[in-house]
Amino acid sequence: MMMLTKKMIEIRSLLNSVGQSDSLTLPSIVVIGSQSSGKSSVLEAIVGHEFLPKGHNMVTRRPIELTLVNTPDASAEYGEFPALGLGKLTDFSQIQRTLTDLNLAVPAQQCVSDDPIQLRIHSPNVPDLSLIDLPGYIQVTGSDQPPELKQKIADLCEKYIQPPNVILAISAADVDLANSTALRASRKVDPRGERTIGVITKMDLVDPERGVSMLTDKKYPLRLGYVGVVCRVPNTPTGIFARGTNNISTAIVRNEKAYFTAHAEFGPQSHLDVGTTNLRKKLMYVLESTMAASLKTTSEAIQRELAETTYEFKVQYNDRSLSAESYLAESLDAFKHSFKSFADHFGRQEVREILKRELDQQVLNLLAQRYWNRPVEDLTPPLSETDPLSSLPKSDPENQLWHLKLDASSASLTKVGIGRLATTVVADALQAHIDRLISGSTFAAHPFARQAITEASTSILKDLSYDISDELEICIKPYKYRIDLDDIEWARGRDNISMVLKEELKDVESAVKHIEEQVGGRRRLRDVMSFVDRVRSGQVVLEGDGVGGAGGFSSALLQKGREAVFLRDRADIIKMRMLAVKSKQCATKKNKYYCPEVFLDAVADKLTTTADLFLDAELLSKFYYIFPRELDARLGRGLSPADVERFAREDPKIRRHLDVVRRKELLEHVLKEMEALRQLEAREKRHGGRP
Ligand code: GDP
Repeated sequence: MMMLTKKMIEIRSLLNSVGQSDSLTLPSIVVIGSQSSGKSSVLEAIVGHEFLPKGHNMVTRRPIELTLVNTPDASAEYGEFPALGLGKLTDFSQIQRTLTDLNLAVPAQQCVSDDPIQLRIHSPNVPDLSLIDLPGYIQVTGSDQPPELKQKIADLCEKYIQPPNVILAISAADVDLANSTALRASRKVDPRGERTIGVITKMDLVDPERGVSMLTDKKYPLRLGYVGVVCRVPNTPTGIFARGTNNISTAIVRNEKAYFTAHAEFGPQSHLDVGTTNLRKKLMYVLESTMAASLKTTSEAIQRELAETTYEFKVQYNDRSLSAESYLAESLDAFKHSFKSFADHFGRQEVREILKRELDQQVLNLLAQRYWNRPVEDLTPPLSETDPLSSLPKSDPENQLWHLKLDASSASLTKVGIGRLATTVVADALQAHIDRLISGSTFAAHPFARQAITEASTSILKDLSYDISDELEICIKPYKYRIDLDDIEWARGRDNISMVLKEELKDVESAVKHIEEQVGGRRRLRDVMSFVDRVRSGQVVLEGDGVGGAGGFSSALLQKGREAVFLRDRADIIKMRMLAVKSKQCATKKNKYYCPEVFLDAVADKLTTTADLFLDAELLSKFYYIFPRELDARLGRGLSPADVERFAREDPKIRRHLDVVRRKELLEHVLKEMEALRQLEAREKRHGGRP
């Protein structure tokens, strides 16, 4: 029943994938031997290919965990390094080069590392086996090697030859067994010789009698016995077996058989164990029975591990199951939910407020351009604090100039490009809200999703805006020619512009305060402002252009003074206009030429009403319909399982949670497999069992 080893090897790689703890180690065959004892040759004879690093400069510096997987139904032979992701390597010389590179990557000063290289070889010609090749023991340290190297290698080997592993101790026949470092090391950890297989290589190099005496060694008797082999790759004239993809087993076995049959000492009557084929069989049998013997302890270890993981799952994650898919789906649902409640609260009224604020600003700009700029003659005498109305530019209803002025202003307002302006501010507001929703969602910790969502909304808004701004422009077209206001609209405009002016005044006053702080106090600002006033009224004549400063003030200070004077004048005008708006004259629309502020505000209001209706119907409802569907396309159906996994693991908290869930599921699965194996094993035993 060789399937036990196979199953256990599968289980081992499953356990590896969740970062098994040391207690879960399943038994392996550990191969030890001195340098040049023929260790590599034995492993290569078993695999059927030359694949191990060769050379004099200590080429094995890391343990190689070699897993052989028998694939009876496949003809291809290949190796893979699970940690490297190089795929299936069918050229064994490439495997050899990779192993050499991995070993040489360990710096010479460090000389050996206990970080194992994992290599799996799949072939119909290999048995299911799990072997660990270790750096060869050295007798003397080379001049270019650190003195502690010998000890380091011995320590590394000792770590691996602990139970439940089986030890494959390689010794060369042409060296006295008493001098075999491998057997000495083995004896230290397995004094009764219960889990050591002795391999005597290079049997062809000694007399058959001497070979026989080694195989029947009594000084260190082994329950699993000694096996004699001749593993040299025979030299063929064509060199066909040397390298690459051809299997060398047959050639080795044929050569070996020729030697052993040529010497009667090794004949069937001798009951000696010789030959690579026998060695392979022995390894399979020994590993299988060791695996069977360790089933119980391994099951128990997995059970403990599972109990720990289950506890962690309960305590840390409240038994909440999680997969990358469910996490994405939940996150997406939550986001769409928050978007829905945003959409429910962001409608025509909100659009209206945004638009009105924008148009109010436009109105203020127009007023400043066309009305509030005071020609010099209007400014003398300076505005009086007590009677600001007396210094107003006088508007005369009979004067055509004032008619023209108001018509031009309202035309400017209707022609600022309301279509584009309104669409842009509303689209920008939507985008800002989406950004805020992202920041408040689980997607905040996921750069990839963040970008996908932002791109979705910007591209939809861009597409929609293009047509909508043109269509809106057409909607407001009638206002470009004629604007009729009723009394209610006038009254509303009057209320609103009063508030806008009040806000504007506040802004101006706080700007002045800010300048005051910048120049170092109110008095200093007053001094420089009065100097600027005197220059302006001609009382003081500046020499040059005042670039280097004047009147004892630096040019920077003068600049601040000019800004403050400008703001003061603006504040004066606003105050004056606030009074004007409040005055009786502006109470009725008949006097619209006196009251451009009220008129323009009412126009802005009319424009807003048209635009908010249109944008609500066209931009908002279309965006609210398309956006969630676009999210599904970009973050739902559009992602591959690997994308989803990568997405979920971006968040370290989720990654840990996913790992625990996965580990738990896997351990449960492995445990079930182990139980099935134990039952199978028990049945085999009842029915007379193994060979
Ligand atoms: P390692 O350093 O222990 O891995 O030893 P190798 O497998 O590289 O073998 C060392 C040398 O011994 C190589 O030149 C092999 O060709 C040679 N060798 C290995 N096994 C045999 C064998 O059974 N018979 C003979 N004659 N030479 C062998």
